[in-house]
Amino acid sequence: MCGAGGFIGAHLVGRLKAEGFWVRGVDLRQPPFRPTAADEFAQGDLRDAAFARSVTDRRFDEVYQLAADMGGAGFLFTGEHDADIMRNSALINIHVLDACRRRGVGRIFYSSSACVYPQHNQRDAQHPDLAEGSVYPADPDSEYGWEKLFAERLFLAHGRNHGMAVRIARYHNIFGPEGTWTGGREKSPAAICRKVAMAEDGGAVEIWGDGQQTRSFLYIDECIEGTLRLMRSRHTGPFNVGSEEMVTIDGLAAMTAAIAGKTIRLRHVAGPVGVHGRRSDNTLVRATLGWAPERPLREGLAATFAWIKEQVDRDLASPHAPA
Ligand code: NAD
Repeated sequence: MCGAGGFIGAHLVGRLKAEGFWVRGVDLRQPPFRPTAADEFAQGDLRDAAFARSVTDRRFDEVYQLAADMGGAGFLFTGEHDADIMRNSALINIHVLDACRRRGVGRIFYSSSACVYPQHNQRDAQHPDLAEGSVYPADPDSEYGWEKLFAERLFLAHGRNHGMAVRIARYHNIFGPEGTWTGGREKSPAAICRKVAMAEDGGAVEIWGDGQQTRSFLYIDECIEGTLRLMRSRHTGPFNVGSEEMVTIDGLAAMTAAIAGKTIRLRHVAGPVGVHGRRSDNTLVRATLGWAPERPLREGLAATFAWIKEQVDRDLASPHAPA
């Protein structure tokens, strides 16, 4: 599991362990919120080809490549980190594939993103087009998306030329407990949960942009389910793994406030917002895998809010909390 210290990777390790697999986790860091469930954990940098080879020391049945230089809009869409995002993730992908090819690894999963889709299909907030086939002609709105598109092609080419069984999911805004919730790399559900948890009843929270941009958010458990179903299928993809329940960012904030039982005012401020509209289109994945996520956003949001509120309360109770 490359990226086993990350949000999705740590959850995926937990699920594979619960199913009885032996798992080696690989990451720059240990999971920040609870000890890894992996049998072994190799801490190191997959931008280093020798490290990637050393952790691929046997013919693993399955390799999951989730390691990436990653964050929410405040990290991906400001432009300040573009060169690092492209270089770091491209090196990781090349080295992991190379190591897997040398060892004859049979099956490899790659986590792509909704960010591969062209911006011209995401201008209408109410009617975005994110069917898998709409990705070309390519025009992602971020360098992160361009790197993901390159990586998809890199994985597919390795599948064709080196006989690897490649499986690719395009994740759409995955959220849940034990994800990054502060520090600048958090994504909008976590940021909004944190802001609402910290706000007084009747207080205000800041929302980037006009709040009318739409998104769909997928709860972590369904992301894991979709990932494993795809990995164990005979289909390569890429497939969307996302929710079809579309919500505006203001709507997400209102739902969070209702879960918290608070009256919250929204203050719209300038900030990186990304495309106007984005929602998973599950037509293909439903027809091919006979599965698509169905859990209502509100359920996952309630679980996520409860976990983030615990973190906020614990931080406020700490002796190092700001006065
Ligand atoms: P995350 O940032 O929590 O996890 C990524 C992990 O990769 C981190 O633990 C990080 O330390 C590790 N990593 C980064 N550089 C590394 C390096 N050089 N060597 C070894 N490890 C390194 O992100 P996540 O949300 O768990 O996302 C997992 C994957 O899914 C990523 O590829 C991401 O691009 C993709 N994805 C996620 C979402 C989402 O909503 N979370 C959406 C689309 C795609």
